[in-house]
Amino acid sequence: MKILVVNAGSSSLKYQLIEMTDEEVICKGTVECIGIDGSNICHKVNGKEYVIEKSLANHTDAFNLVMDCLTDKEYGSIKSPKEIGAIGHRVVHSGEEFDRSTYVDAEALKKLESIVNLAPLHNPASLACLKSCMSIVDCPNVVVFDTAFHSTMPDKAKMYGIPYEDYKASKIRKYGFHGTSHKFVSQEAIKYLKSKGLPCSKIVTCHLGNGSSITAVKDGKCVDTSMGMTPLEGLIMGTRSGNIDPAAVEMLANFKGMNLKEISNYLNKKSGFLGVSGVSSDFRKLCEAIGNGNERAKLAYDMFNYQIRKFIGSYAVAMEGLDCIVFTGGIGENGSLIRRTVTENMEFLGVKIDGSVNDNAPRGTLVDISAKDSKVRVLVIPTNEELVIARDTKEIVEAL
Ligand code: ADP
Repeated sequence: MKILVVNAGSSSLKYQLIEMTDEEVICKGTVECIGIDGSNICHKVNGKEYVIEKSLANHTDAFNLVMDCLTDKEYGSIKSPKEIGAIGHRVVHSGEEFDRSTYVDAEALKKLESIVNLAPLHNPASLACLKSCMSIVDCPNVVVFDTAFHSTMPDKAKMYGIPYEDYKASKIRKYGFHGTSHKFVSQEAIKYLKSKGLPCSKIVTCHLGNGSSITAVKDGKCVDTSMGMTPLEGLIMGTRSGNIDPAAVEMLANFKGMNLKEISNYLNKKSGFLGVSGVSSDFRKLCEAIGNGNERAKLAYDMFNYQIRKFIGSYAVAMEGLDCIVFTGGIGENGSLIRRTVTENMEFLGVKIDGSVNDNAPRGTLVDISAKDSKVRVLVIPTNEELVIARDTKEIVEAL
């Protein structure tokens, strides 16, 4: 079965066509600037890239262009849309309406419409894209949520200390994000640890990228995670502040003369590595600036490092032990320095890495960077969120 995975942002649409018999990516691409000037598609197949510039007013136009590329006589991969067995859609926020990946029927569509405002930057785009797909291709559609893997969090971990009736009415609580990534890497870690006869019940997964989150996975299930009602909570990130005293937000808004919407934009887009360092939101550029003696870049790095360590420590206590730490995401997979500094002096927790294996870890594959005598395994695992979406979609569609 061929599954098309789509990930719609407010002005972008990423896609991959995956052959599920061998889980090979047949082709993939990105549509950018939907609804804005300069819209284009970059379609990649057989190591070649095809860029087409075309005015695209909305997600329906964008999806039509994706289908044109997929079925193109010269560089297409399928003869007709009928070859697509199912479409799997990434949806950022499920609210409390869904706790797992779900086949889209009329009832699910209604529920999706009811939660569109929970992630105002993302959910409307996913819904628009889903509706386009449903009208253009005649195949089953499945929605896969960033929040779903975290639905197993106990109440004590997911609740905020606000009046309970307000939580009930508003559904405002911790949901967590990057769930498909945390699910994928924790499952890969469990497979690896089991194959070595090692314990695998208490795992901390660190997804470190432009957005970063850390999750405690006990017996394969999420018991806590660092992001919250929105992806702003938790660690300092590329442009996001991470945790901040809510009362300081009001003070900051007064100081800057900003209203609530503006201060939210400021904390999401102008803070984090970018705001603290004044250099960049990009971790590589931050590290370059540190190399050139930039102290504010060093401060941003130290904050990130310290906060990751604190989350690992607190989750080890929450799970009453630690068997494995996983690093993933652009920074976690490629940044040997951050893996080294995060795990430094953690022997009291049973964590010790092999510096040389860490520094020379090949990319794109699972690498065990733990020292031989480390009680806790430390793994680098490339994430694959699209594959999780495709696998969930296949499973659901086959059971229909
Ligand atoms: P997103 O959250 O947008 O999916 P990614 O997971 O792709 O982001 O991560 C992007 C981050 O990874 C950027 O901050 C980038 O600087 C960082 N990164 C990429 N390559 C490296 C590298 N070799 N060393 C350190 N950081 C890296």
